Amino acid sequence: MTRRFLFNCLLLLCVYSLQAQQPLRQGDPKLTEIWQPEPKVVTPGKTAADAPSDAIVLFNGQNTDAWASKDNGPAKWKVENGTMTVAPGTGEIHTKQAFGDCQLHIEWRTPAEVKGDGQGRGNSGIFFMGHYELQVLDSYKNRTYSNGQAGSIYKQLPPLVNASRGPGEWQTYDVIFIAPRFNQDSTVKSQARITVFHNGVLVQNNASLWGSTQYIGIATYDMHGDKEPLVLQDHNNPDSYRNIWIRPL
Ligand code: MG
Repeated sequence: MTRRFLFNCLLLLCVYSLQAQQPLRQGDPKLTEIWQPEPKVVTPGKTAADAPSDAIVLFNGQNTDAWASKDNGPAKWKVENGTMTVAPGTGEIHTKQAFGDCQLHIEWRTPAEVKGDGQGRGNSGIFFMGHYELQVLDSYKNRTYSNGQAGSIYKQLPPLVNASRGPGEWQTYDVIFIAPRFNQDSTVKSQARITVFHNGVLVQNNASLWGSTQYIGIATYDMHGDKEPLVLQDHNNPDSYRNIWIRPL
C-alpha cells in the first residue's frame, strides 16, 4: 500500500512538472499574431536570377558605371555581348558604392579554352568588403587545395561540395554575407558570416570567417568600416561576369 502510494505521488509529480514546462496553448490565438511592422512589398524578378525591385544592379550588361579601378579611375575591364570580362593586368575593380550585410547574385564564366591548371585556371574572386574572398575558379576536374577551389572562402573554408559547371559555362553564386562587427578597440565583436549557393547548391552554410583573406599565413581580422566596396579580382585569367545585383540587408 505504501509503495503504491509513493509510486502515485511520484507519477503525479512527474505529470505536474511536465505540465509546468508546457507553454500556454489555450486562450486567444490572436495573442501570437505579429502585425507590425508590415514587410515591405518587393516585386521579384521573372526568375530567381533576375533582380528584384529593391536590388541595386551592379552590372546589367551595358557598362561598368557602377565600378572603378584601384586608382578610382574608370574600370578597364572589357564589356561586350552583355558580359564584363577581366582584362588581364588591368587590376581589380571595385564598386563605387560600399556595402555591409548583403544578398548578392552574380554570374561568372571561366574561359571555354582551358589553359593552366590548379590556381592558374580561370582564377578570379569576389571580395566582400574588399577583404573576404569567395573564390572564382575553374574547378571542373581541376584539383587544387580544397580551400582554394570554387565556392571556397579562399585559404579558409572549403565548399561543402563541388557544384562546378564546366569551363565556358555560366555559373551562379547567390550569397548572404553578414559583415563582421568590431569593438572600438578594434577587437572583433562578431565574425563575418557567409552562406553561398553555387549553381543553386549550398556550398557555405552560415559559415564564420577567420578574418581578411591572406595568401600566406593565417587570416586574422583587420578593422574596417561598416560598409566597404565589393571587389572583383584580376588574377590574369579572362573570366567573365554578368547579371550582378545586390540587396543591402
Ligand atoms: Mg581568386
